Amino acid sequence: MRKQIVAGNWKMNKNLSEGQALVADVLAGMPLLSENKIVVLAPAFLNIPETAKQLSGVAHVFCGAQNVHHEMNGAYTGEVSPTMLQAAGAEYVLIGHSERREYNGEHDALLVKKMNAALSVGLKPIFCCGEALEIRDANQQNDFVAAQIQAGLFHLSAADISQVAIAYEPIWAIGTGRTASAAQAQEMHAHIRATVASHFGSEIANEMSILYGGSCKPGNAAEIFAGADVDGGLIGGAALKADEFLGIVSAMVAK
Ligand code: PEP
Repeated sequence: MRKQIVAGNWKMNKNLSEGQALVADVLAGMPLLSENKIVVLAPAFLNIPETAKQLSGVAHVFCGAQNVHHEMNGAYTGEVSPTMLQAAGAEYVLIGHSERREYNGEHDALLVKKMNAALSVGLKPIFCCGEALEIRDANQQNDFVAAQIQAGLFHLSAADISQVAIAYEPIWAIGTGRTASAAQAQEMHAHIRATVASHFGSEIANEMSILYGGSCKPGNAAEIFAGADVDGGLIGGAALKADEFLGIVSAMVAK
C-alpha cells in the first residue's frame, strides 16, 4: 500500500535550540500515524543528530536531510556524505530541490550521482521536480516534469525506485503564497505517475508516494491532498510553526 507522507523542509532555518523546541512541539501534538501515514522532518545538517535523537523511539516519524554529496568521503570541502547522514540518524534525503538546482547549479547528471549514492547506503530519496512559471505559462509543464523524472530516475533498478518518493513542487508556488489548484496538482501527479509507469510499470508506479509542495497550509492541505494521486506534501514555510505543520499532518492523516 502506498504511503502518505508529510515532510517538513526547514531549509536554512532554526538553530539547534530552536530546532529542539520545534521538534518537541510537533511531537507533543502529533496525531496518530501508522506505517502508511508517516512524517519526515528535514532540518539543517547541524540539527540532524539532535533531531534524530528526539525522534528515536517515536513510531512513524523520521529524520531527513535537505541535501547530500555523491561521494562517501574525500577532499570535498564543506560537503556531507551519505554515510555521514546515515550515521547521524537521517533516513530520508531531499534530492533536486529547486532551490539547490537554482542556487547551487545542481544539474541532472549530478542528481543522478546523488540518487545513486543515497540509495547505495539505504537513504530514501525524495526526488523533487517542478516547472518555473514561464514553462507553465507556455503549457509545457508536462513535458518538462517528465524530462526531469526521466533524467533523474529512469536509470534506477526496480529495487531502488521502490525506495524513492517524488515531490512535485511548481517553482511558482514555492514560498509565494500561490498554490497550484487541487485540480492542477492532481493532473500533474497523475501525469508523474503515468511517466513512472511508462518506464517501471504500473505496479511500481501505483506504490510510489508523490507529494505536493508549494505554499501548502492547513487551510488548503485537505483539498490538495484529496487528489487520488496526491500522497501528502513537502512543506517549507508552514513546517516552521508546529501548529501549522500539525494542521497539515492532520489533513494527511484524515485522507
Ligand atoms: C519547499 O520549498 O519545499 C516548499 C514547499 O516551500 P513552501 O511550502 O514554503 O512553499
